Amino acid sequence: MFQRILVANRGEIALRVIRACRDLGIEVVAVYSEADRGAPYLDLADEAICIGPAPAAQSYLNIARIISAAEIANVQAIHPGYGFLSENPHFADVCRDCKIEFIGPPQQAMALVGNKNEARKLAKKAGVPVVPGSEGLIQDENEALRLAEEMGYPVLIKAAAGGGGRGMRVARNDINLRVGLKSAQQEAESAFKDGSVYLEKYVEQPRHVEVQILADRHGNVVHLWERDCSLQRRHQKLVEESPAPNLPGPVRDDICAASVRLIREAKYFNAGTCEFLVDKDNRFYFIEINARIQVEHPVTELVTGIDLVQEQIKIAAGEKLAFAQDDVRRAGCAMECRINAEDPAADFRPSPGVVTKWQTPGGPGVRLDTHVVPGYRVPANYDSMVAKLLVHQPTRAQALATMRRALNEFIVEGIKTTIPLHKEIFNHSAFIDGRVDTTFIERNWMGK
Ligand code: ADP
Repeated sequence: MFQRILVANRGEIALRVIRACRDLGIEVVAVYSEADRGAPYLDLADEAICIGPAPAAQSYLNIARIISAAEIANVQAIHPGYGFLSENPHFADVCRDCKIEFIGPPQQAMALVGNKNEARKLAKKAGVPVVPGSEGLIQDENEALRLAEEMGYPVLIKAAAGGGGRGMRVARNDINLRVGLKSAQQEAESAFKDGSVYLEKYVEQPRHVEVQILADRHGNVVHLWERDCSLQRRHQKLVEESPAPNLPGPVRDDICAASVRLIREAKYFNAGTCEFLVDKDNRFYFIEINARIQVEHPVTELVTGIDLVQEQIKIAAGEKLAFAQDDVRRAGCAMECRINAEDPAADFRPSPGVVTKWQTPGGPGVRLDTHVVPGYRVPANYDSMVAKLLVHQPTRAQALATMRRALNEFIVEGIKTTIPLHKEIFNHSAFIDGRVDTTFIERNWMGK
């Protein structure tokens, strides 16, 4: 096992990794940008090293600075968290060259699944259904128009290197397609330095269901069941839960089995997530593999009792999984609300600033993952998520009630948050009945 790890991230996920290290008895080194100087969670690390100015390109995304910090601090491994460098195969490569273990999948598997077009090919090889679409990348407009006619509108233009919903456009006719193609390519080029795109059939009002995987270096692959993440705004998740409500048992089993096949085919190890869309007839289609720990991982931790971050560290250190598929039990229902520093009443405008009041919920069945304390200043430079509020109860009805209570207990002043939106969601009949799809937020809240 490692003696000392560096966390190449910030905020709640940095704190989450610090806690996992403490639980494992490992020393932990944090890094921070000038915008995060003095953040209270940094005190919980054994050492904290400044890696540069506020802009992420000069700090959390700067490989040379992070590696220098790791060498100065003399760590054996780096945990990248999510976002930033977590899915950057080049970073994983540099770590290996510097004899520092990267806590994540092997570089080849990461590069393979990081390209959505390659991941689609992989899924087809593993006998996993994919959304009908182009065989490969789109070369020119005429090819796109011809394919769209074959598939039938609506279609979705997707960036091969895409992530975070960027480089994605829906086209409902030829004109949309011509315009969307150009703007998706431009957006992908500027965001990922790779403008290649492909076409998929646009699945109308799908649910988003994903499967948590753990795999070790010794060929053991287990799934930790599914999460439903259909509640999204602009393809960004807002609420996640496990089990997926109203998903027939045999469909659930098929999706989990398909995920295990995919991970084996990719020769992937560490934690990973296989994402699927489920249509109105409960047909499922693979969309992508996320090669990192995900924001919503605690939902799975609550229902399975397995600490995913500790497992990641143990896998990276070469340990075998201590449990087989049949040992993975799931109990009750868990739900997560992402609390963002955004104003839902003003088109989700970011709302950074000083948190003057921060009165947090607690009690039975509540877990709060956050790095925020009263008086904390939310920097404007990074992702706006300030907390993940989770509940775990024996039944979904109880989980809904506990989340309503917890949301009411949560009092935040000084910044605007998504708490008021979550309160409305948890009182909406369609959500209560577990009948929502990825367009639910847009249809019910946007433009109001
Ligand atoms: P990203 O990597 O940018 O997050 P994903 O491929 O994971 O992109 O897709 C994100 C979300 O976009 C999905 O959860 C779903 O809401 C929507 N989406 C993706 N592909 C399709 C599709 N073919 N039809 C309908 N919606 C889709």
